[in-house]
Amino acid sequence: MSRSFDPNEGGEFQSPALERLVRSLSRLPGLGRKSATRIGLHLIDQKSVAEELLLSAAEAGQKVTNCSNCGAITEPDPCRICCNDRRNPTQLCIVATPVDVLPFEKAGFFSGRYFVLGGLLSPLDGVRSEDLPFQKLARRIEDDRVTEVIIALDASVEGETTALYVQRMLEGSDINMTRLATGIPVGGALAYIDEVTLQRAFQGRRSF
Ligand SMILES: [Zn+2]
Repeated sequence: MSRSFDPNEGGEFQSPALERLVRSLSRLPGLGRKSATRIGLHLIDQKSVAEELLLSAAEAGQKVTNCSNCGAITEPDPCRICCNDRRNPTQLCIVATPVDVLPFEKAGFFSGRYFVLGGLLSPLDGVRSEDLPFQKLARRIEDDRVTEVIIALDASVEGETTALYVQRMLEGSDINMTRLATGIPVGGALAYIDEVTLQRAFQGRRSF
């Protein structure tokens, strides 16, 4: 009995080794069976690419860690940002994931430091305040004598919930809490902006 070779029809390869490779690859985020098959066949064809991939994944797995102070992805711990004396420790930018640090660092305008929450509050998904490092955040704010907290979280329900939680945490202190203005993207056409973005842009309007 012959089996279909079309990965879209759920058929399996006649090679158990290739089948295993494709299944492993399709467990990666964003990869369906079709993409996993294409990548698997490429890796078999390009042995040097496969070897480099294995080596770099193993090395990264060993060396990459999260900064014990801010949570950013780093190899030295504490990270270079936390160790940099020219970065202002009293200005603390709160982000959800380590990847969120990158656009700030790429743009290069922010000279404060970061705190990575590692997620956002989401009662529906079972992420509660005790699941996120708010106590560590409070200690950090105290230890570094933080004077300004900048909330740089997603403009989503979870982002709003988390921002409100931090706001309540800081209530009564004289810490200046700010958040990123959300508005119309540069080059964006007004007619195609969603209503939430438009409302935020309107609320955040400034005089010329
Ligand atoms: Zn750090």
